Amino acid sequence: MSDPELGFSTRSIHAGQDFDVTTGAVVPPIYMTSTFVQDGVGGLRSGYEYSRGGNPTRDSLQQLLASLEGGLSAYSFASGLAAEDALLRAILTPGDHILMGNDVYGGTHRLVSRVFAPWGVSTSTVEMSDLDAVRAAIRPGVTRVLWIETPSNPLMKISDIAALAAIGHETGAIVVVDNTFASPYLQQPLSLGADVVVHSTTKYLGGHSDVLGGAVIVNSQELADKVGFVQFGAGAVSGPMDAWLTVRGIKTLAVRLDRHSSNAQAIAERLHGHPKLVNVYYPGLPHHPGHELAATQMKSFGGMISVSLVGGAPAARKFAESTSIFQLAESLGGVESLIGYPSEMTHASVRGTALEVPDNVVRLSVGIEDEADLVADVLSALARV
Ligand SMILES: *Cc1c(COP(=O)(O)O)cnc(C)c1O
Repeated sequence: MSDPELGFSTRSIHAGQDFDVTTGAVVPPIYMTSTFVQDGVGGLRSGYEYSRGGNPTRDSLQQLLASLEGGLSAYSFASGLAAEDALLRAILTPGDHILMGNDVYGGTHRLVSRVFAPWGVSTSTVEMSDLDAVRAAIRPGVTRVLWIETPSNPLMKISDIAALAAIGHETGAIVVVDNTFASPYLQQPLSLGADVVVHSTTKYLGGHSDVLGGAVIVNSQELADKVGFVQFGAGAVSGPMDAWLTVRGIKTLAVRLDRHSSNAQAIAERLHGHPKLVNVYYPGLPHHPGHELAATQMKSFGGMISVSLVGGAPAARKFAESTSIFQLAESLGGVESLIGYPSEMTHASVRGTALEVPDNVVRLSVGIEDEADLVADVLSALARV
């Protein structure tokens, strides 16, 4: 049931999820096995040999992800960074250059600048929402990867995926979109011209803050073969239990995201103009510079909001430590609301670099609790600042 004609929610529940033929179990079992018995040497049942190469539970997740992103195939990994690492190793060789946004996820920047740089891969950053700046920074024939994150983290900048894909393709780059913040429910980069989507499935796809995972979704056989080979050859696969939990989470992605978005919209509107805030960064607000663009390339504006505080770093810290429903923790995308102080938490690894996040910024991952409770929680914490 991966028929692309079916609606998103139907595919979220059924793609790659056929019932178990031997027992009729509605939910396919978790195949907790490392290896598979052969009917005589080389006599594989359904093609399975050893779980690093293939496992039915992982396959069911991968089919589901490919369907939701509209890709040819998907590969799932033990974490988002493991997925990014596998993708980059599959497509880069020494001498290649990566161009990425100047506010990409800190861990992505750490991966390329600390793990890949010693292997001869260089990276530079640019204001990805400024197309002229991207045209000037991209190195035709040398920039092998154009890495886009939209909305970006934590300042929620919006970049034009279709326009950037065109720029990347004119100059010979592979266009990658980290779609973690939007999820495939809100935004489908492959349909806008990107070549590859990566995810930290730890966030909205898993959705319950109980499992780490990552994925790479591609739309060409050439990329599929390369990424599939690194998944098998380097082995950072997702285990069956993790894959199953992620599938379970994805079934409710659409209803969760609708609620994340409406709760976040309500909070952003309530906070806009608050005397203790300099700015509210949420693409659903009409004054947000990416509002119009986000309205065309996203279904709704998602559950992530950042705010900057008039009182600087001390006020930001105090705010982040003063909520009660919003819990102070890294990560995002779960049903429970979280609050974070990026400059010392998620983005600590980019302090002192061009990617540094202003120290008066606080990030909210708005959960799916009751809107009134969340609004009251944020307002009372601000009152204490
Ligand atoms: C969390 C995150 C990652 C890394 O994923 P892990 O599952 O933590 O390895 C990558 N990109 C974005 C946008 C993220 O939020």
